[in-house]
Amino acid sequence: MGAIMIRCPATNELIPVGIDTDKDTFQALPDVEASPVRCPACGGQHTWSKRDAVLETTMRLSPRQIPVREAD
Ligand SMILES: [Zn+2]
Repeated sequence: MGAIMIRCPATNELIPVGIDTDKDTFQALPDVEASPVRCPACGGQHTWSKRDAVLETTMRLSPRQIPVREAD
């Protein structure tokens, strides 16, 4: 399992989109625009698609530092 991450266009930091998945599921995702994600780096909202995203697995070493997506 890993966290889907995108790069913030304002700060160039990798930020989590709030979705954890495994590599096979990630690769099977359609390349469509996803719901906007609130960015913990710049405070804005970013839309993203699979081509912008990476699957970050090393972050599992410090899961408490991954912001959890709040329920709507
Ligand atoms: Zn941002």
